[in-house]
Amino acid sequence: MARCLNCFRAISHCLCEYAKPEIDSGIKFVLLMHPKEAKHQRTGTGRLTHLALKDSEIIVGLDYSKNQRFNELLNDPQYFAVMMYPGEDAWTAKKEGFKETVAGRKLLVFVLDATWFCSRKLIEHNPQLLTLPRVSFHGQYRSIFTFKREPKPEYISTIETCYYLIKELKDLESGISQTAVSSEQTSLQNPHPLVNPDCDPEPLMNIFKAMIKDQLQCENDRISGKLPSVYAHDWKYDDRKAREIPDYLE
Ligand SMILES: [Zn+2]
Repeated sequence: MARCLNCFRAISHCLCEYAKPEIDSGIKFVLLMHPKEAKHQRTGTGRLTHLALKDSEIIVGLDYSKNQRFNELLNDPQYFAVMMYPGEDAWTAKKEGFKETVAGRKLLVFVLDATWFCSRKLIEHNPQLLTLPRVSFHGQYRSIFTFKREPKPEYISTIETCYYLIKELKDLESGISQTAVSSEQTSLQNPHPLVNPDCDPEPLMNIFKAMIKDQLQCENDRISGKLPSVYAHDWKYDDRKAREIPDYLE
């Protein structure tokens, strides 16, 4: 099967058109991908996230302590590195002093791009990740689509994680510029915004919706026999009815 070299999906299911224009968020996103996740491109959202975000990269690994690129980024003084991970001390867009702490550096956000199970493995192998300052959401979010293998409803995909973080930080930035008296003052207090206030994160959600829709459509086509099953006789689809594609994906 011919694959798209950008999104790694079959050419007929390529989603690259949705990743344009690239989002210039002003944040560097580094997706730490479990090697197992790197093999499961179909349900993972890491690669699509990377395609949609301008300054982003994926590092595949299990033990990052000896990973050259990881250490390079971690020790680069232009960045303020944080780990996207919940915790009592985690910074959120609503916590006072976050912007002052970052102090004009560019925010570098490490995101675990793995299933809940593999995320735990990654943390076990890399306890140093949790010694980094953490950043988390102020709001609570549910995934618009839960993959069957996720045991917790609050476990949201990598693509949604980046989407909601950008949105919350954008709200924070616009709040700050509204309270500043003059633009001169804004630039003084605002040497480097946490996030590009003019960026539009919606392409992330659009590409995610396109991916879910495509996935549901494929499942339905297998159930109806339009598409051949992966196996000679796929008992998995025998008793199943096609699922309706939800309105919000249209
Ligand atoms: Zn593609």
